[in-house]
Amino acid sequence: MLSYHETLDIILNAATPRAPQKMALDHLTGLVAGETLTADALVPPFDNSAMDGFAVHSDQIAGATRTHPVVLTVDGSTMAGDRPATGQRGAWEIMTGAPVPKAYDAVIRIEDSVILEQDDAGRPTRIAITVSGFPGKNIRKAGTDFAPGDRLLDKGMRIGPPQIMALAALGQDQVSVIPAPRAAVISTGKELVDDMDQPLKPGQIRNSNAPYLLAGLRALDCPAVNAGTIFDDPEKFDQKINALRQQDFDLILSSGAVSMGRHDFIPDGLRRQGAEILCHKAAIRPGKPILFARLPDGAFYFGLPGNPIAAAVGLRFFAYPLIRKLRGQRPETSVVARLKNAFTKESPFRFFQKARCHHDSEGQLHVEVLPGQESYKISPLLQQNCWAVIPETGLNLRAGHLVDVYPLFPGSEGGFL
Ligand code: AMP
Ligand code: MG
Repeated sequence: MLSYHETLDIILNAATPRAPQKMALDHLTGLVAGETLTADALVPPFDNSAMDGFAVHSDQIAGATRTHPVVLTVDGSTMAGDRPATGQRGAWEIMTGAPVPKAYDAVIRIEDSVILEQDDAGRPTRIAITVSGFPGKNIRKAGTDFAPGDRLLDKGMRIGPPQIMALAALGQDQVSVIPAPRAAVISTGKELVDDMDQPLKPGQIRNSNAPYLLAGLRALDCPAVNAGTIFDDPEKFDQKINALRQQDFDLILSSGAVSMGRHDFIPDGLRRQGAEILCHKAAIRPGKPILFARLPDGAFYFGLPGNPIAAAVGLRFFAYPLIRKLRGQRPETSVVARLKNAFTKESPFRFFQKARCHHDSEGQLHVEVLPGQESYKISPLLQQNCWAVIPETGLNLRAGHLVDVYPLFPGSEGGFL
């Protein structure tokens, strides 16, 4: 049987990154940058005021205090959106974000001034400044946020609200991105009930895998559709795959019917479709029966085992890495944490364990392998904030041993760090 890494290599080697395409800013959230992008303009585009107040010549207000203010005329006014003025010898009324007239080198906030006279329209005409200033005070210089050449996006990074704000500030509307693969989810199992309003008959269970897989794919910003349940009917499987092949899905995931039972019809069904089965079964727990195939038209197929946690591990540790590769992203790196309790296992398989990690007061990361690792047990997912990975060799690990932990979603380490 292949190891986890051998299986993952087969999966990743089968995939090449998808072609980038240009998309408008409005559609970028959750997509992955297809190119490294740098700023081509100055932000702010011009020197502007950080405060509502008065632009001044700083040498004119040297030594000004509350008890010894400096009195100045106000020669004009600029608000945000006005064209830059030239300025004169006195002070100049100015608003936050307004271009600072060339003549001035500092801005004094309104709180540090006293208005002595104003005209009929309420515009200040004579003021007393009660603080001193220095060149550059309260002025936001052009290009101090972004200058041409500054890095905005790295190829392969996920675009979120922070990148959107930066791109918008720079007026970069068309960005090269790699679209996420489109996925379809099939459920197998005669025992499954999809209709939540339908009471369970003896022998039936609710379908929890399909909603989980759809949610897990969408959490990675992959458009995913529920392709329904085919019970344990191989003919329905053929029909379903034929229908999905018409719709150009990049990725199909099924749960159940890939292990050793008499009704585990997925491998034969895929062969009937002319699919190439690239691997089947990996030395992992849970999730050993996992299958990976390529359909004749290039779509990838994951046959995930039916047990809910086996399906979850297949998604997290095989499908997520494939999706990253398809999106031109680098393989994930793990974080290490100290085991809270000793861990023993009898099998030389790689174990993926529902786990919870936390930082102690010294910043050290600790991980607790949660009780209830059986592959049918969903309830520990509600306590889980990470996966702990116990390597093949970790048969007897003492408390304090360092193990790899992975966040629930790649790149979401912030969730537990
Ligand atoms: P299988 O891999 O088809 O042998 O299924 C293994 C176990 O997972 C069985 O107990 C199934 O009832 C259960 N199972 C299969 N599919 C689902 C599903 N969609 N939701 C919840 N449990 C499932
Ligand atoms: Mg089944």
